[in-house]
Amino acid sequence: MAARFAGAGKTVAIIERDKFGGTCVNTGCTPTKTLVASAYTIHTARRGAEYGFSVGDLRVDMTRVKARKDAASTTSSKGVEEWLRGMANCTVIQGQASFQSANTVVVNDEVLEAGKIFINVGGRARIPDMPGVHDVPFLTNSSMMDLDVLPAHFIIVGGSYVGLEFAQIYRRFGSEVTVIEMGPRLIGREDEDISDAVREILEAEGIHVRLNAKCISLEKREAGVAVGITCEDGPPEVVGSHVLLAVGRVPNTSDLGLDRAGVTIDHRGYIVVDDQLQTNVPGIWALGDCNGRGAFTHTAYNDYEIVADNLFNADHRRVSDRIQAYGLFIDPPLGRCGMTDADVRKSARPALAVKFPMSQVGRAEEKGETQGFIKICVDAETKQILGAAILGVGGDEVIHVLLDAMYAKAPYTVIERAMNIHPTVSEFLPTILAKLEPFA
Ligand SMILES: Cc1cc2nc3c(=O)[nH]c(=O)nc-3n(C[C@H](O)[C@H](O)[C@H](O)COP(=O)(O)OP(=O)(O)OC[C@H]3O[C@@H](n4cnc5c(N)ncnc54)[C@H](O)[C@@H]3O)c2cc1C
Repeated sequence: MAARFAGAGKTVAIIERDKFGGTCVNTGCTPTKTLVASAYTIHTARRGAEYGFSVGDLRVDMTRVKARKDAASTTSSKGVEEWLRGMANCTVIQGQASFQSANTVVVNDEVLEAGKIFINVGGRARIPDMPGVHDVPFLTNSSMMDLDVLPAHFIIVGGSYVGLEFAQIYRRFGSEVTVIEMGPRLIGREDEDISDAVREILEAEGIHVRLNAKCISLEKREAGVAVGITCEDGPPEVVGSHVLLAVGRVPNTSDLGLDRAGVTIDHRGYIVVDDQLQTNVPGIWALGDCNGRGAFTHTAYNDYEIVADNLFNADHRRVSDRIQAYGLFIDPPLGRCGMTDADVRKSARPALAVKFPMSQVGRAEEKGETQGFIKICVDAETKQILGAAILGVGGDEVIHVLLDAMYAKAPYTVIERAMNIHPTVSEFLPTILAKLEPFA
């Protein structure tokens, strides 16, 4: 946004209180996907015998793993910072910004006045008010970034996207890992068959999963931290060396002086915006995680595109035009787009569906990575794709074939007519789509 305005000859100030690049670059996507890559390589090396090699005594050096991760984040963060600092018409200010009024922002005792203000403050890990939480050392996705030792027993509270990625990463590094989830299944927003398959994948690697943990409490012990659980079965507590709290995010909106600007927030602190991301105050927009309309880097970036196209191109793009899409970057990854089965059922529309195991996909077999499945749901009348999930090798990339067809509002039959590259996972989509049956 800064570059777009600066490039158009406008005077821009960008205010950052911490590291440039925000959550994604410093404590989110970039470092975790770098760690996922280390964990994947280590896991593959352990499976060497299956592929025809041996590595002898495999030792994970957490200092080097961390150094690799830090290098990726630092390069990205510094790149963003240098780019901004070298930008004509753009002033970079380091400090905590807060509103003084609807058109003035204070930072480091300096008052800036502007006709257009874009709030893009993101969020942070939610620290739930569970018993004992203030008496024990715990980790969040941010403090995890400083960890350069291998936890002996890593307890992860929260069986959703952030928690599961860290669970598999650290299990592959060599920790004992227990995931404690309040709900009856992991990644509760997904369909049950996806939750179950993900749980099977993680348990097959030796990760312990404790569900239905209704009353979680924390207590300091000599060996680390005891996490109290009320589960349907299993011991009432788990004692671990380290605990990660991965139970959701909260927006960074409480210290922004939004009341002085008159900007409305909802009961969870998210800034209320309309379909074009304008707040209730003319001249103030809210983008990214802080508006509660998305929780991903691509939704934050899409927010920028929507606002910029509205302002610069009179192209009336709207948030409601976008199709839900995201990845869960465990191995194998889950690529998701559009409606879940539960959404389709609720919509009560006539639909066709197919579910196909990755074990029957040639490319997966060749790679020795056959876990998971592909499932696709289409509208029986329009033949347009309603939603899909690809839990399997390449799922995070292959899902875009279906997502692009959805944006094109094309019937699924166009995918059947395409000539695909062999051998790939994508080449199986026509075969899979040929097996569509009435949605049950
Ligand atoms: C562990 C983890 C893994 C993730 N992995 C993925 C992934 O693989 N793919 C994906 O799409 N998303 C992922 N996400 C989510 C993604 O990181 C966020 O959705 C994305 O960073 C949101 O971007 P944003 O611009 O809204 O906010 P942020 O990236 O959080 O940036 C907000 C910036 O505002 C600054 N700031 C806040 N308040 C003030 C203030 N008052 N004054 C000045 N500066 C301020 C902050 O310091 C920060 O730099 C992950 C998140 C986590 C926690």
